[in-house]
This record gives sequence, C-alpha cells and structure tokens, in this order.
Amino acid sequence: MKIVLASSNAGKIKELHDMLSALDMQVVPQQELNIEDIEETGLCFVENAILKARNAALMSGMPAIADDSGLEVDLLNGAPGIYSARFAGEGASDASNNQKLLELLGDAPLQQRSARYQCVIVYMRHANDPTPIICQGSWEGHIALEAQGDGGFGYDPLFYVQDLKCHAAEIDKQEKNRISHRGKAIQDLLAKLASTRRAP
Ligand code: IMP
Repeated sequence: MKIVLASSNAGKIKELHDMLSALDMQVVPQQELNIEDIEETGLCFVENAILKARNAALMSGMPAIADDSGLEVDLLNGAPGIYSARFAGEGASDASNNQKLLELLGDAPLQQRSARYQCVIVYMRHANDPTPIICQGSWEGHIALEAQGDGGFGYDPLFYVQDLKCHAAEIDKQEKNRISHRGKAIQDLLAKLASTRRAP
C-alpha cells in the first residue's frame, strides 16, 4: 500500500520517513510524483495541513499525510507560527529565519524567551475524505541567545530544551523523533489508525 507525503521540506521528510516506518505502507514524498507545494492560504496549522493533504491526494490518487508545523514564541505573541517557514520572507533560508528571530528577541534573558513547536498531522484516505484524521503535538523550549548544534533543521540550533540542557540541533535524531512535536503527532496518528478501520 502506498501513501503520499505532502511535503517538500527535506528535514520533515527525513523525520517523517523514519517515524512512519512502523506503518505497513510505502511512504512516497510528493516530489517523487512531481507534485508541487501548494500555497498555504489557511490561517491555522489545521487548515494548512488539510489543504496540503487534499492537494497531494487529488494529484496522486493515493491516500495522503501532511504536516503543518511551526514555532510559537511567547514574547512575539505566538509569531512566527504558521509563517515559520517564510518568517524572513518568501523562500527564506533557515539561517535568515533564525537571524530574524534573534534580532527580534534582542537581549531578552533566556527565561523570558519561552517558545514551543507545534505540529498538526492530517491523514486523508482520498481528496474528498469528509473525516480527515487530525493529530497534534507540541514541544516546549526556549529560544537561546546563540545557535548551537548542526543536527535537525529549521529553528533547531536556537531551540533550547531545558530538560535535556541542550539545543534541539544537538539531540540524537531518534531521541528528537520520540519527544518532539512531530513525534507526538505521529504517535497519535499511529494509534488512531490502529484503533479505527481507516486503512485506505
Ligand atoms: P511548513 O512547511 O509550512 O509546515 O513550515 C514549517 C516550518 O516550521 C519549517 O520550515 C521550520 O522553519 C519550522 N519547523 C517545524 N518543525 C520544526 C522542527 O522540528 N525543527 C525546526 N524547525 C521546525
């Protein structure tokens, strides 16, 4: 059984691929089917995840999984949120997004720089699925004053995890998949798929 993964973000694809290896399905990134990213016009993670999953299911004729995720920073009233990928502008690099975040937070002390990653995962059996499975996970941390580590992607070099006393980019990838916002959302999805007769 094949399922299309509605993302072109290399960091996400890598993580989701590892996490979904428990599924008895072959997960195909949408790029392999020449499906392009659609515009994310939703105003929340759930809307954007549904838009992405529906588009991938429509273009492929296969069941689809989409992830919409981002970083919420309390001092910035929840920004960058759904705009995390394009915080420093359309097509922005991870480095420029991180740079903008550091500039906006200035020299605020670590304890005031609380933040969390949010992830919504949507599974749709087909493009007209009236009851998509919607799963969510979050991961608490703080935005450090300097980047550290070269693992992960996106804001991971700045995301300080107090429990582990290190930055997300320094965490072993299996450990990140176990405790992260995406890991929690996928665990939720796997449980829901197992407990309902939702196979495509
Ligand atoms: P999306 O493709 O619109 O869902 O954008 C997600 C963006 O949120 C990514 O491009 C990253 O900037 C950020 N993001 C989401 N999850 C993570 C993560 O696990 N680590 C670092 N950044 C993340």
